[in-house]
Amino acid sequence: MKILLLLEHDDTHLLSANFHALSAARQLGDTIDALLIGHLCDAVLSDAKKSLAVDRIRVADAPEYAHELPENVAPLIAHIAKEYDVILTAGTTYGKNSLPRVAALLDVNMLSDVTEIISPDVFVRPIYAGNALMTVKSSDHIKVLTIRKTAFSGSKREENPKLIIEPLTDIIPNTQSEFVSETLTHSGRPELTDARIVVSGGRAFKSADNFKQLERFADSIGAAVGASRAAVDAGFAPNDYQVGQTGKVVAPDLYIAIGISGAIQHLAGMKDSKVIVAINNDPEAPVFEVADYGLVGDLFKILPELQDELSKEMKCD
Ligand code: FAD
Repeated sequence: MKILLLLEHDDTHLLSANFHALSAARQLGDTIDALLIGHLCDAVLSDAKKSLAVDRIRVADAPEYAHELPENVAPLIAHIAKEYDVILTAGTTYGKNSLPRVAALLDVNMLSDVTEIISPDVFVRPIYAGNALMTVKSSDHIKVLTIRKTAFSGSKREENPKLIIEPLTDIIPNTQSEFVSETLTHSGRPELTDARIVVSGGRAFKSADNFKQLERFADSIGAAVGASRAAVDAGFAPNDYQVGQTGKVVAPDLYIAIGISGAIQHLAGMKDSKVIVAINNDPEAPVFEVADYGLVGDLFKILPELQDELSKEMKCD
């Protein structure tokens, strides 16, 4: 089996999602090539050389590939696809934006969000917002898949002393779209999908100002901040905080849901967390069905109390 692993990076480093995708790739076969696409990505390549034990890294580094827009990333992958049995990457925004286009260009099925690899052509993936798991057998000659990062442990960062670096000189220009600008959120907090602890808030916070209480609490325990879609739609939290079916999928060691009802679309993004704590004033709230610990009460009373207790603990330490 020959596998092509599409790499995701921030122009300097490989993102952690690649190491989860590499674990999945190893379950499928031993011959693994990685594909690095971008412009001026020498720093990423040196990071990859030190940490990514694959057979070969193929590098498409050209101004045409700056910002890795899917309009020419996908045709480039499709162009080399016939050399591979499997093309995969993590089911991040980048992966979800690129690989379905590759599948369409190759006229094969897209296997999205794979959570388990049963055999080289049988995969498990969630459907109906994670309420059911589907086992799919694919007879496509090339399998194109994104993997759910939380379902595969991150592979060890290690070097392959025999690693081959191969520049890809085929340039596929992007005639369909143009990069205009990007707005990045800079935060000292852990990244939501990598964090060990996530504290998420819902509509019950009632305002963006009140939501800051949750952010202070999260900061005091070194947690990432998440939110329900209702909280995002109401403008309490930015869009990239959203956890759930149409947001991010997280599986931290500890997930604290505050003032969140536990709609299935929210649960789809957090129910695999190792320990779930829910605070809600409605004892019948569905979130308690998945919670390991539940606190029934008013968050505006409970949160300051928790914060006080925490400060006392920290002073004692
Ligand atoms: P609510 O459902 O209004 O719940 C608020 C909760 O707070 C209630 O349980 C209430 O009892 C409790 N509460 C109120 N006041 C207090 C208080 N003072 N103290 C303590 N508790 C209190 N949602 C997501 O989150 N993520 C998604 O990715 C997502 N994708 C969706 C995709 C689709 C196609 C659709 C149709 C919906 C999606 N939703 C998603 C929306 C989802 O269905 C819910 O509407 C949303 O999750 C509700 O957010 P919430 O729990 O904050 O609000």
